Amino acid sequence: MTAEKDAQRATTAVNAAMLERLAFDDTRDFADASRGLVAAAPGDALKRDNGFPIWDMAAYDFEDAEQAPQTVNPSLWRQARLNKIAGLFQVTEGIYQLRGMDISNLTIIEGDTGIIVIDPFISVETAQAGMRLYREHRGDRLVVAVIYTHSHVDHYGGVRAIVSAADVASGRVKIYAPSGFLEHAVAENVFAGTAMSRRSHYQYGVFLPRGPRGQVDLGLGKAVSSGTITLIPPTDLIDRTGTTLTIDGVPIEFQLTPGTEAPAEMNFYLPTFRALCAAENATHTLHNLLTLRGAEVRDARAWSAYLNEAIDRFAGRTDVLFASHHWPTWGTGNVHEFLADSRDMYQFLHDQTLRLMNHGLTPMEIAETLTALPPGLDRKWYARGYYGSLSHCVRAVYQRYLGFYDGNPAHLNPHQPVDAGRRYVEAIGGAEALLGKARQAFAEGDYRWVAELVNHLVFADPGNKAARELAADALEQLGYQCENGTWRSIYLTGAYELRHGVFKGGDLTTVSPDTIQAMSVDLYFDYLGIRIDGDKAAALPEMVLNWRFTDIGEDYAVTVRNAALTYRAGAQDALANATVTLTKAVLDRIGLGETTFERAIASKEIGIDGDATALPSILGTLDTFDLMFNIVEP
Ligand SMILES: [Zn+2]
Repeated sequence: MTAEKDAQRATTAVNAAMLERLAFDDTRDFADASRGLVAAAPGDALKRDNGFPIWDMAAYDFEDAEQAPQTVNPSLWRQARLNKIAGLFQVTEGIYQLRGMDISNLTIIEGDTGIIVIDPFISVETAQAGMRLYREHRGDRLVVAVIYTHSHVDHYGGVRAIVSAADVASGRVKIYAPSGFLEHAVAENVFAGTAMSRRSHYQYGVFLPRGPRGQVDLGLGKAVSSGTITLIPPTDLIDRTGTTLTIDGVPIEFQLTPGTEAPAEMNFYLPTFRALCAAENATHTLHNLLTLRGAEVRDARAWSAYLNEAIDRFAGRTDVLFASHHWPTWGTGNVHEFLADSRDMYQFLHDQTLRLMNHGLTPMEIAETLTALPPGLDRKWYARGYYGSLSHCVRAVYQRYLGFYDGNPAHLNPHQPVDAGRRYVEAIGGAEALLGKARQAFAEGDYRWVAELVNHLVFADPGNKAARELAADALEQLGYQCENGTWRSIYLTGAYELRHGVFKGGDLTTVSPDTIQAMSVDLYFDYLGIRIDGDKAAALPEMVLNWRFTDIGEDYAVTVRNAALTYRAGAQDALANATVTLTKAVLDRIGLGETTFERAIASKEIGIDGDATALPSILGTLDTFDLMFNIVEP
């Protein structure tokens, strides 16, 4: 077992060059990130029952030093220090933000009788800590409304710390969200949930030690909290730009921005405060067009267009812009420049990628060609790639238009990693010859090549210790060089797992009980179909089951044929093999693991008329997913 290494010469050279290239003497962000501080966040860590930290800013005290260590890119170090400024801040009179207490911001607007809470963090625990700090300094004000700006978990997961489901059900508290919120919030975390959760361990470096050789910052915020994720569905959907509501005496003008940073997202303007909430559409980083944990690719063109619309509608009457990550921007001129620069950034990425695509360049060729934004943007701190990066954003634009295939027939049907690995190792003359070449490349500082070359050997022979060590060393140097916080986390997590194996005791997933309960029956059947093992189900005869959900009054006709599950909502099939009668509540309990189909059938909570073997034979083909699958080895 090897340990983390120092930065090598090639790495310190890359990091030193950043100091020359960027405008480190521009320190306005530090003033803005501290402006309006009411109270610093308490330093004590929040922990799970098993001791795993939920949120622990004190673990980042090593970032207090102004000068970056050699193992951290100085630009990322600067962002890390900004993201460490944590507490309760006044944005303007009547608007407060809790920042640095989760990856996202929790914003509070003080209304006539109570408060409106915007985006209650990821976890109940961090949201509780935030609200406690707010109430200590602003009094015990009642929550009268919640706004979710968009469908990502860091903007709703702590909601049960803010309001109870009963207060929402009784109508005392309304929850506002953009149209399509629930479908996207749930679907994103369910269909590909296991794969995404596992890949997010890499993107967020959740299991990495905190320190100058470990996780340092995610660019968008310090880290993701690991507490209890909840979801209370919205009561009021905003479905039209220009909708104006008065909530607790506060007029709010909404702008829908679907297909930008999230499939369901909205900005809104507060005329009384001359304040604009830009959700996650304009933050102090180049954002992701494709999140590396895996997600549907975003639309840079729509993103740019909606920022343009926000400028038109709001910028001229805005004194302060705040968002759900990072610190606000004050001053009408600054707000305009910030929005216009953000708009240009996404449009530039979109247009230049398409221009190069139309010259025949393929993804990596485009990424190696578009290595900087235009000079007017390149040295602006908020245009730096701390969360998105130019490299992966341009590949995302390519993916959106042309997909995974780069057009080269040699890449149409390559061998899969293990088979390719064996052939590469053999072609190079065996493991020792490969390692010799890789060590030479390492000495020359070509860590990208080392990573690629040795990866073939690790996949050919995952037991080769020297290969694992060298691969880890290369990924680590690449991580140390990253300006992008998520790239750093990904490289360092790869290095960690090559050295120590998959993290033990990792059970962090975004599939929470509330998410399961928020699933519609449609979504449930979609997910059931995803769990059918195609090989096992191939032998089943065609089967049709009528389903009746007595508590919600919904009927479904579900067909399993050719190992594919399809359904018709609101239908019953006269020739069905059987009719399954149950409640949605029982289905939810099955989803939560509180009972199973088999037990619910035995206890008559599920009634079956007709062929009693039909449902069990389908259930017998269902697959289960193991979260902690391998990534850096077969
Ligand atoms: Zn977010």
